[in-house]
Amino acid sequence: MIENITVLQEILDDLLLKQTEKYCQGHVADYIPALACIPPQLMGISIATIDGNTIGAGDYRHPFSIQSISKVFGLTLAMNRLGKPLWQRVTMEPSGQAFNSIIQLEWEKGIPKNPMINAGALLVSDVLVSHYSASKLAFVSYLRKLANDESIQVDCEVYQSELSHGNRNAALTYLMKSFNNIEAEVPEVLSHYFTQCAVSMSCKQLSESLLFLANKGIDPKTQSQICSKKDAHRINAILSTSGMYDQSGEFAFSVGLPAKSGVGGGIVAVVPNIGVICAWSPPLNKYGNSVVGMNLIAGLAGKLGLSIY
Ligand code: GLN
Repeated sequence: MIENITVLQEILDDLLLKQTEKYCQGHVADYIPALACIPPQLMGISIATIDGNTIGAGDYRHPFSIQSISKVFGLTLAMNRLGKPLWQRVTMEPSGQAFNSIIQLEWEKGIPKNPMINAGALLVSDVLVSHYSASKLAFVSYLRKLANDESIQVDCEVYQSELSHGNRNAALTYLMKSFNNIEAEVPEVLSHYFTQCAVSMSCKQLSESLLFLANKGIDPKTQSQICSKKDAHRINAILSTSGMYDQSGEFAFSVGLPAKSGVGGGIVAVVPNIGVICAWSPPLNKYGNSVVGMNLIAGLAGKLGLSIY
């Protein structure tokens, strides 16, 4: 697929050009005030391959708030740490609800439907807080190692902004605590969760750092085993069914790749045995997925015939 890098570069440039005006169709997330001031016209796309190439177009080196894309890294760490017992505390079913829905959690007696909605990621954050002496540091160090880039940082403004507007996430965590599904103190869990959401990374860094999911759990850059082959398969399965929230079905239907979005406007998509695509454009649709990001990934997957189905 990637034999001809010049052709791929032309495809990426062309896809981006076609999206120039499309960002107007979405709205930048403003429920986190620090995200509201990001220029909406920025956009980029990159693809990193397991054989060591990264090709990008537009603002693909521009760092942005990874937000819910952090849920993929958090889940990988928690699966490594906890193994099978994790799945007694969170299930693996699509939620069919908004990513921050509270009502479902009450029905499910404090057991989140999957680790890609907020309740599930807060549960995973609890696992990390309870299993690491310094979970935030462990998380950021992990990302730096995966991206092979020590410059990756937490955006303190985004962190503070979420902390002071995080009542819904606090409500979700307290509700799970009331069902005895949270071990640590709620403020500590929230602080970890907001820290991981507030990490800034570029399309290039994200696509390179998730290559292990396209390569059976092994980071092709270092040959280190990031998770087992089986866990890589399971994470991709969860991304396929729940990574795009309530639009996961449509994404599987029209694109056909395991993917994860974040309200910072980023989307990552895993192409098994080939590589990882990351697209970024801040304006979102009503599901919380980047409008242009989805178009870019759909365009590339369609053009190259990447659907796994
Ligand atoms: N930090 C965001 C929140 O908790 C993450 C949501 C998202 O990216 N979908 O609302």
